[in-house]
Amino acid sequence: MREKVLVLEASYDEDVLAQCMKEILEAFPLDLEGKTVLVKPNLLGPWPGESGIITHPLVVKAMVEAVKERGGLVQVGDNPGLRGYGCVGRVCRETGMEEVVGREWTNMAASPRRVSLRSRFVEEVSISSQVLDCDVLISMPKFKTHVSTLITGAVKNSFGFLVGADKARMHAAAPRFRDFGELLVDIYQVRVPDLVVMDAVTAMEGNGPSCEDIRDLGRILAARNGVALDVVMASMMRMDPSLIPTLAVAAQRGLGPAALEDIEVSGPMEVIQDFKRPSTVPRMSWTAPFHRAVFALLSHRALGVDRRRCTGCRTCEEGCPVGAIRVERYPSFDASKCINCYCCYELCPEHAVRLNRLLRLVQR
Ligand code: SF4
Ligand code: SF4
Repeated sequence: MREKVLVLEASYDEDVLAQCMKEILEAFPLDLEGKTVLVKPNLLGPWPGESGIITHPLVVKAMVEAVKERGGLVQVGDNPGLRGYGCVGRVCRETGMEEVVGREWTNMAASPRRVSLRSRFVEEVSISSQVLDCDVLISMPKFKTHVSTLITGAVKNSFGFLVGADKARMHAAAPRFRDFGELLVDIYQVRVPDLVVMDAVTAMEGNGPSCEDIRDLGRILAARNGVALDVVMASMMRMDPSLIPTLAVAAQRGLGPAALEDIEVSGPMEVIQDFKRPSTVPRMSWTAPFHRAVFALLSHRALGVDRRRCTGCRTCEEGCPVGAIRVERYPSFDASKCINCYCCYELCPEHAVRLNRLLRLVQR
């Protein structure tokens, strides 16, 4: 049987979102009465919903209300990319999530458990207990590109199961793009979501997952199978799903379909012809050897900083998994240590970390 993906027209109007959640829960019914339900958005950092970087709080609110109406005992939480004491609470407040979900918010960093992982790269990980204990898991990713993993979708949203410094440890354990994609699938398999609902009302293109290239798409996507949903998203982004490491590995393991032809799509889905893909796409294609050679030549200055934007906050330094950044007034990057994970680029709250312009040009 082909996996089904539902595509709905949507906006951030609360009535429209309530209707979307109703249609989704009719298309993919869940027994929610008396069940503990974890709603897991993508809250990368302390950006507001309008930034297009996080799952918009109003989309999350609509799901929370729909679950409560059906008798579910709902909690909302995520482990953001930031590290340090109090960062989960800060992200909850500054994203506007606290205001809309209130008492349903749960601190996912508060009670992690060590679990063994079936993986070539690590043996154990620290997972939030809410993920392990919930009866129903609803994953709510954002329609976004990613400069390292190419897409940030349903599979990648499970990276937020991990608490604190464990995320950085994963980057260091699997620094190659393809290996990191495989590790993300290992983590996704710890607790495969029961339903995935994606905020594609606004979408991020270009070099996501935290850039300023936002476009209005006016869609909510939903599926039981997160891999199927990611294949649809990648196809809308003009990307070949077989070149995306997470999707290639997931398809090999039988976790979902490999191509759009294997999916039953219901609703207004179209390939966005002028969608800006990440400039790192060629690294996954047949030009990869040439591309790697060019990258190696230029990698001594693959990253730079926009000094007009940098506040010296040290978020990049704290987030670097291999200690390749030192911030005095501004950050400096040690290319001999850098593993090109792009965490610094992703986490900088000021969008001050920049990819080398010449490298971007060559990649295009
Ligand atoms: S580059 Fe960004 S994260 Fe790093 S110190 Fe400057 S503002 Fe902070
Ligand atoms: S400098 Fe940036 S891209 Fe390089 S390893 Fe550190 S966080 Fe990753």
